[in-house]
Amino acid sequence: SSASEEKDLVIIGGGVAGYVAAIKAGQEGMKVTCIEKRGTLGGTCLNVGCIPSKSLLNNSHLYHQILHDTKKRGIEVGEVKLNLANFMKAKDDAVSGLTKGVEFLLKKNGVEYIKGTGTFVDEHEIKIALNDGGETSVRGKNILIATGSEATPFPGLEIDEKRVITSTGAIALEEIPKTMTVIGGGIIGLEMASVWSRLGTKVTVVEFLGQIGGPGMDTEIAKATQKLLKKQGMDFKLNTKVVSGDKSGELVTLAVDAAKGGKPETIESDVVLVAIGRRPYTGGLGIENIGMELDDRGRVIIDSEYRTKIPHIRCVGDVTFGPMLAHKAEEEAVAVVEYIKKGYGHVNYGVIPSVMYTFPEVAWVGQTEQDLKKENIPYRIGTFPFSANSRAKTNLDTDGMVKMIADPETDRLLGVHIIGPNAGEMIAEGALALEYGASTEDIARTCHAHPTLAEAFKEAAMATHSKAIHF
Ligand code: FAD
Ligand code: NAD
Repeated sequence: SSASEEKDLVIIGGGVAGYVAAIKAGQEGMKVTCIEKRGTLGGTCLNVGCIPSKSLLNNSHLYHQILHDTKKRGIEVGEVKLNLANFMKAKDDAVSGLTKGVEFLLKKNGVEYIKGTGTFVDEHEIKIALNDGGETSVRGKNILIATGSEATPFPGLEIDEKRVITSTGAIALEEIPKTMTVIGGGIIGLEMASVWSRLGTKVTVVEFLGQIGGPGMDTEIAKATQKLLKKQGMDFKLNTKVVSGDKSGELVTLAVDAAKGGKPETIESDVVLVAIGRRPYTGGLGIENIGMELDDRGRVIIDSEYRTKIPHIRCVGDVTFGPMLAHKAEEEAVAVVEYIKKGYGHVNYGVIPSVMYTFPEVAWVGQTEQDLKKENIPYRIGTFPFSANSRAKTNLDTDGMVKMIADPETDRLLGVHIIGPNAGEMIAEGALALEYGASTEDIARTCHAHPTLAEAFKEAAMATHSKAIHF
């Protein structure tokens, strides 16, 4: 690339937001450059987030199930051994296969991919410090900031990714720790706690709020989830804030303060996972060179068309507003290219599903009961337990339920909350129903195949406006 040639779109960051925008823009016939410093495409999600964590979750679940859940199924197993190195290799193979796949897709769509760190020189020019040494630059008619996020550090406790770890260390431990304390009972905390707890680590989760799952999870579902995770061996300290940490000794020590009236105490463990949220990442981007501002949480400020205050510089994904989710980044990436190319685009922020890939999975979309209560919006609830679903019973996986929330007058669906096997797949049906403004009767009158877990979805809809058949 040469500084003289101006691209239609220069994208800084090759994560989900950046690479999806690059493909979409390529499909629209735009001349595109995508700059990524990591050395591989796919960003946090493919390299150290969604994908590696799901590999570890899937395979640790299988291992745990073989150890503890075969007898009642009439399967007798001999000695079961975990080979941690191969367990990690399966994860690494999934990651490298997918990141290479993305590289192929960029090529296929005519996108120029530059490995290096992009920095604003001015409002149209990006200087790139190449990973292989040297420098180049590129000019863009439009520029997209898609630089993502990073783990929020815990003040006073230095991350070494061995004993004090973020999720990045948690997907790459070389041995199974005896004990682990997780600071933060959000999604990262619980997913990683599940992985290591299944492999034999004694895990304690310390959460500042009164419920696990982060603030977005329906309280009733969060309580049910906590019970099931506890049964699997995890310990929880809720309403408890970690105030300081010390890793000078053989074990890492945390001082915790019970938020509501409890006494302060210390917790010692081999490994501490810091999972207190993620923060937008704009390091090295040189936004000061173009006079761009961030909000008080470090997010790039944009308007409803993803424009920063410099209109041809737009921004999507974790580095700006909204939930830090890969599928949200992906939706925005498509929409922002449509705005640039056609002048219109669309993301429905009311219908972005969340999934926690524990066992059972927890998934939700739309509004929670506590949201509606707080806003004094009337609602009606229908639930259906998996213990009454024929497929769940047959599979011997009956923990959990489907909970639906609807407008009591119009019956329009307002939210769906599921804890149960395959909840993450089932929630797509909830998203579709919400997107099309379905009533729970619409869902209940849609034929669902038998015997499937999805029938619990249909029956919860029946229970919302009328009565379920099987419960
Ligand atoms: P990122 O993926 O962070 O990508 C930004 C990229 O920009 C990075 O690769 C970075 O190297 C690059 N970059 C930054 N600055 C520059 C620069 N100046 N020049 C060049 N390159 C630069 N979400 C889900 O929806 N489902 C999940 O199951 C899920 N699991 C997760 C598990 C974990 C452990 C973590 C940490 C996150 C998970 N997430 C999940 C969240 C998901 O990873 C993010 O929402 C998603 O990656 C955001 O995409 P992005 O493109 O905005 O940012
Ligand atoms: P989070 O915000 O979801 O949870 C952090 C939790 O830590 C909160 O519940 C908070 O109350 C608690 N906390 C904060 N400070 C504390 C303290 N001092 N002591 C005790 N508890 C404290 O953040 P996360 O779990 O780190 O995840 C970060 C982002 O990554 C989220 O946006 C999440 O959606 C995304 N992610 C998504 C998935 C998925 O979709 N399956 C998986 C992993 C991560």
